[in-house]
Order: sequence, then structure tokens, then C-alpha cells
Amino acid sequence: MPLTRRTFLQNAAAVGAGAAITHGLPRAAAMTPSPGIPKPVVVSSANGLRAVTRAMELIREGSDALDAVIAGVNIVENDPDDTSVGYGGLPNEEGVVELDAAVMHGPTHRAGAVAALRNIKNPSSVARTVMERTDHVLLVGDGALRFARAHGFKEEDLLTAKARQAWLNWKENLSNRDDWLPPHTPDDKDIGEILDPLLRDAFGAFFRHTGTIHCSGIDAKGNMSCVTTTSGLAFKIPGRVGDSPIIGAGLYVDNAVGSAGSTGRGEINLVNCSSRMVVEAMQRGKSPEQACLDVLQSIMEHTRMRRLRDDTGRPRFEVEFYALNARGEYGGARIYSGGKFSVHDGTEARHVPLAYLYKKG
Ligand code: ASP
Repeated sequence: MPLTRRTFLQNAAAVGAGAAITHGLPRAAAMTPSPGIPKPVVVSSANGLRAVTRAMELIREGSDALDAVIAGVNIVENDPDDTSVGYGGLPNEEGVVELDAAVMHGPTHRAGAVAALRNIKNPSSVARTVMERTDHVLLVGDGALRFARAHGFKEEDLLTAKARQAWLNWKENLSNRDDWLPPHTPDDKDIGEILDPLLRDAFGAFFRHTGTIHCSGIDAKGNMSCVTTTSGLAFKIPGRVGDSPIIGAGLYVDNAVGSAGSTGRGEINLVNCSSRMVVEAMQRGKSPEQACLDVLQSIMEHTRMRRLRDDTGRPRFEVEFYALNARGEYGGARIYSGGKFSVHDGTEARHVPLAYLYKKG
């Protein structure tokens, strides 16, 4: 049966959405789902197996989905071996780690975010504090750091020896592959040769290192929330902000419809408001997987810059979507075959293949 707006609203009413929430989120009274409430599910990017495991544990103990997904991604933010998120993330082109993160709480439709935040390991927790302790949604740069400091977040050097080494290697060998573009004609012609190193860098074996963790969850009350956190594009221009802290681009939740988030080329999500688009496609009745595929297709229709396509018209970048609807159904998709995402739907944490637009190769 297609999931109509009405079905969703009835579902939302049935679960009693809209409980007043201020600081700290109320815990679900009991784990046993009532009739009409889907069983808890948590989805995440491929690097999120530990995140979905932790989030499901907390949901089983009665946590709100937002508490659960943030606690899940905190594990990856704290992990020095994940070079795409938090502590140990790859730095900007000046060797400084700058983090972006956002959280969105379905039942209250509130959000908080930080961008280009330095020195704080858990930007997702700062984003949540922005949501709870300000009347704003997004704080950036030095203002975000001062806010985090005021709330007692510990400052530390986030650049690990491993990330510093990767940055030095990039500077010594690959720094012609950066993000500064030469002037070009409005129709994007005649720059192919100049951009060749960048093009190759943005595709296949030369793919620029990206990585992020997104996590969406539905709790025992049927409420949904999500988080996206990242160190962003490696060796980016300082101050560059990707899609992850932008509500509607790197994540979005409508408690009555579903939750979605993304990893991959942030710039493409910024110009397509992709996560909001995925949720809207689910609202029109698309399955989570089909909603992700539809948005990828729409992105392709909007990608007009020649430097972002190869000779056959295929994209020279990758982007992944993860989606969960209010019935607890989930799916994900990306541009090229071979991807996977993490799911915990009550039995175990596991990887599930992502649908795709094009077969690789
Ligand atoms: N989307 C992230 C960004 O553009 C990077 C990534 O997911 O790999 O900052």
C-alpha cells in the first residue's frame, strides 16, 4: 500500500507524537511496541556498524532516537582510525581539522548544527547543544568553538600522526589536485586540459578521500531522528562547509514520513537539497530505496558542468543516500555499484548492499 500523507499523519497521531521536549529527551516508557508502531530500526553509512549497534542498545533501553543515534556516531567520532570523522579526521589544505555536523529531532522538528568547528572531537554533541541551548540552528567557525567552550566541551588537537602524514603526502605529491579552479567560460568549455588532474582526482582510482557518518533511527515510540557528522572533504579550502551540517542537504527528518541522510560529494547535495528530496519522495509513496534512486536521477539531470561528467556522460563523483520511513522500512542507493550501508533492525547489525544507478566499470 503506498504510504500517503494521510497514512503517515494517522500513524503519527497514533504514536502520540509531539510530546513536549525541552532539555534532554524523555525516555520511552517501555520497549514493547504498541500496535501501529513499527519496531525500532537504525540505519547508517557503511562505517556505522558500531554506531547502529550502540544506537539499538540504547533504543532497547528506552532512549529517544536522537540520544541513540548521537551516542552511536560519537563512537566513530572518537575513533582515531576513522579518518573521515571527528578525532583523526583528515585536515584542510593548511593541516587543520575542521568538522561539520548536524542533528535533527523528528518529534519536535528541531535541529542544531555546527560547521568548520576546530578542536572539538564530538561536533554532533555540540550540534545537539546548539539545538537545545540556543534559538539558532547553525553556528560556524570561531563562534561555534566559543559556544562549545562555554558549554564545557574539551578542546584538543584533533590531528593524529596518521592524518598529519596523509596531509604531508598530499602536499608533497598531490597538491596540484586541490579545489581551486582556474577561471572558466560560463558554458564550462575549453577548460578540460587545465582541469585534467582535478578530473582524474575526482574519479575512480584518483577519487578524493571523503567520508562521513550518517545515522537515522526510529525508536520504541515510533519517533525518528538523525545525525550526520564529518571532517568533510580531505584537504579542502579552509572554511569550506559541506552538506553534512546543512539541514535538508546532508540530513532531514519529517517524523510523520521518514528520515534520510547522505555521504559523498557534499557540493552536489548543497545544490539539490537532496535529503529533503528523499523524504519528500517517500511522502509521495516511494519506498526508501526508490526515493534514493529518484533523487540520484534528479541530481544527474541537474549536473550540467562538463567537468563533473566523463566522456560518456557518467558522473565523476559519488554520493550515497540512506533512508528510513515511518513504517520502519529502509533502503539506500548511490551512483555506482559496489556500495553498502549499515542496518540494525532488531536482530543484528549488518551491511546491506546499496542500490545504484550505474554498474561500475
Ligand atoms: N559529504 C561530506 C562533505 O562533503 C563528505 C563525505 O561524505 O565524504 O563534506
